[in-house]
Amino acid sequence: MNDPPVYRIRVPNPFVEGRTCVYVIAADPVTMIDSGIATDRAHEELIAGLREHGLDAGDIKRVVLTHKHIDHIGNAWRFQQQSGAEILIHEYETESIADVDPTGERFAATARARLAEWHVPEEIATVATGDFAATWKIESAPATPLADGQRLPLGDGHIEVIHTPGHTLGSVCLRFGRYLFSGDHLLPDISSNVGGGDLRNRGLLRHYLASLARIRDLSDAGGLQVMPGHGEPMDTFIGRCDELIRHHEQRLEKIVAILARNSNLTIYELACELFGKMDGFHIALGCAEANAHLELLQEQGRISRTDRKK
Ligand SMILES: [Zn+2]
Ligand SMILES: [Zn+2]
Repeated sequence: MNDPPVYRIRVPNPFVEGRTCVYVIAADPVTMIDSGIATDRAHEELIAGLREHGLDAGDIKRVVLTHKHIDHIGNAWRFQQQSGAEILIHEYETESIADVDPTGERFAATARARLAEWHVPEEIATVATGDFAATWKIESAPATPLADGQRLPLGDGHIEVIHTPGHTLGSVCLRFGRYLFSGDHLLPDISSNVGGGDLRNRGLLRHYLASLARIRDLSDAGGLQVMPGHGEPMDTFIGRCDELIRHHEQRLEKIVAILARNSNLTIYELACELFGKMDGFHIALGCAEANAHLELLQEQGRISRTDRKK
């Protein structure tokens, strides 16, 4: 296979992960992977980045999304409107494109319900659903569902879809030649939030660890370069997978130790023990992370549900 150019354009993102990486593979059809957050500023910088490589919006014929988060799906609809580009996302997350939530109201309602379930005190819960005062500039668009193992023809080769649930239930990694586009499943500098990114679904840590093991064990893992959704590309990633698996195992052990001292903690109290003082949206993320770990310990039978009264 001839290696077509792969461009990386980093667009602004207000969230803690920092700039979102958008990738463009200049082969037929010209394919964009992820699309940055849904703001005019991110869109403008994305267009400017395309121009640096001699491309414009009309050249983008396909947008493949690694997962449903607003800093990845944000501008896909604009390319569809400008060039008729097809938008593709895992079948579990097509709704996030076809029926968008531009004011964040539906998300806030889900977050409020979970915060109540986790016994977050009401006065704290009011600030914990996040302060997304700026609403997103996004419109609903038809999206084509992707499934694990699917191959999308591109140039002389193809993009292979590898379903890697965990960060969200419909997260995918995309393998193209020697590249593995990893979205937020595998990041070089931070451990992806597990639990907080998909408040409607359960059992996410079990999925996440299995997905890490899955890409770690790809037969060509040693020769793949990871192109993450945030941060710098990684030439090797097996060590990073091991580091993350260890990180979660240590957190699981820490929770077992905390609950051995006090088995009556609520999820909120457990999150406070783990992460100390949390502010704003970090309260929801911290509780979700604590909850995801607790769910896995219960699934593994390492703690029993009756250990906890709340
Ligand atoms: Zn994400
Ligand atoms: Zn992200």
